[in-house]
Amino acid sequence: MENSNRPKLEIRDLKVEYYTKTQTTVALEKVQLSVADGEFVSVVGPSGCGKSTLLKVVSGLLQPAEGAAYIDGQMVQGVPDQVGMVFQNDALLPWKTAFDNVRLPLEIKGLPRDEQIREAERLLKMVGLEGFRDYHPKQLSGGMRKRVALARTFAYDPDIYLMDEPFGPLDAQTRVKIGEEFLKIWEKVGKSVLFITHDIEEAIALSDRVIVMSARPGRIKAEFKINLKRPRPFYDIRFDPVFKELQREIWNQMSNEI
Ligand code: ADP
Repeated sequence: MENSNRPKLEIRDLKVEYYTKTQTTVALEKVQLSVADGEFVSVVGPSGCGKSTLLKVVSGLLQPAEGAAYIDGQMVQGVPDQVGMVFQNDALLPWKTAFDNVRLPLEIKGLPRDEQIREAERLLKMVGLEGFRDYHPKQLSGGMRKRVALARTFAYDPDIYLMDEPFGPLDAQTRVKIGEEFLKIWEKVGKSVLFITHDIEEAIALSDRVIVMSARPGRIKAEFKINLKRPRPFYDIRFDPVFKELQREIWNQMSNEI
């Protein structure tokens, strides 16, 4: 039976270790976290605190030493159907055009060809690339490739977006521009997101909740509810006094860990 109070994603008592010949590294310990249906949760923390490790467990790429992740109450074992991942270095297929990269998940889903075309066109337009449909990835800038990658993830339309520094390699202005587009689209789609970033401002501007992790072994150190109304202007919200206060508090928590 469907339980509407059940979190979309739940992480319980998670411990993750990495083993090498000479040592065992505890990357995460006693991590508890839940993400409600449609909630946007960001995780910030110092480099090496286990943020990527956390996403790898949720996406079924890594087996924890203790505890587990649950999606819709089902324990994650192997890559779940419900997740869509956006990583820092998104591999678009270099031999396919922007259009065909976006169309691919629709084809895999088995949509009729005319619907694939209509939907891929709509998504490319949504990310502002309708004029570039026949370009190949190498003919596009880093920001444009990132837009194609986002459109492709929206085409896949997962229940949960797992995003690991998705705007990482972009310059500051492009990062803001793409973040703004992503937020606008997400506010319409309203799916659950678990978003990893080292950028406190980005985390606050996007999220319903920001989680701060401690230095390794990563634990959840603090949690901040972001009570800023939506839809939000991704850039201008930074001038809101509530934003500034959150930024200060989150930075205080994080700076102790660096
Ligand atoms: P973050 O994403 O917060 O920078 P990671 O999750 O990548 O952190 O890594 C957490 C810790 O685990 C780091 O100290 C890192 O060195 C270690 N680690 C990550 N991957 C491996 C691995 N494959 N083998 C051994 N140690 C690893």
